[in-house]
Amino acid sequence: MAFTRRSFLAGLMGCPFCAAAARAAEGAYWSYADAQNWGTHNRAYQSCSTGGEQSPIDLTNAIRADIRAPKLSWKAQAFKIVNNGHTIQAEVAPGCFATLGNRKFEFAQFHFHAPSEHAIGGKRTAMEAHFVHGGEGGALLVLGALLKAGAKNKVFTSIMAAAPPIEGEAKLNEPVDPAALLPKRRAFFRYEGSLTTPPCSEVVNWYVFANPVEVAASDIEAFKKLFPMNARPLQTLHRRFVLRN
Ligand SMILES: [Zn+2]
Repeated sequence: MAFTRRSFLAGLMGCPFCAAAARAAEGAYWSYADAQNWGTHNRAYQSCSTGGEQSPIDLTNAIRADIRAPKLSWKAQAFKIVNNGHTIQAEVAPGCFATLGNRKFEFAQFHFHAPSEHAIGGKRTAMEAHFVHGGEGGALLVLGALLKAGAKNKVFTSIMAAAPPIEGEAKLNEPVDPAALLPKRRAFFRYEGSLTTPPCSEVVNWYVFANPVEVAASDIEAFKKLFPMNARPLQTLHRRFVLRN
């Protein structure tokens, strides 16, 4: 998943003592070409190399478990579409949620990676969408949907049609329902992991759907023209378990 400099800076607005922190964030450049060294080049990114619960991973040898999917209360919106230099991201207006039992996470944004970040049995798909929700205490809940070439997906087509070719923002002409980017069959993998971009914080409840979603090959090409490779290498499972329902 990607956290934008812009959204970080927006979070600092109204904090007069945070200018130094904002400048530090401004200077904290990273790239996918350098993904093996994120943790060593910047102290703030140490978790990227020393963490024991990093993402993405190969979803394999999963343990069958009776686990519930998060309940989604999303609605269609004419999303703001941002090219943040690392991905194309749709920003979600307040009021959409995912709930896990009595824990509530607010839907903040969704964005895309090429190829997919998670693999199943060692295989990556053409792309992956991440639906990022923020909860209490900085915990995140992220849904991952693997994307592959096939039938056109209208939501992805309208996002790619609006996507700014260079860093900047645009807005969709009409509301689209982000749930149309999820597979109809809701089998999923569940594990504890991290952001897949610096600072690689280990705060993410991951739910990755087992079945891919089809999107138009031409829309995948349009994305790869902007971001030919924006996926972090697979990370070690260490002592974690992967569950599947
Ligand atoms: Zn992501």
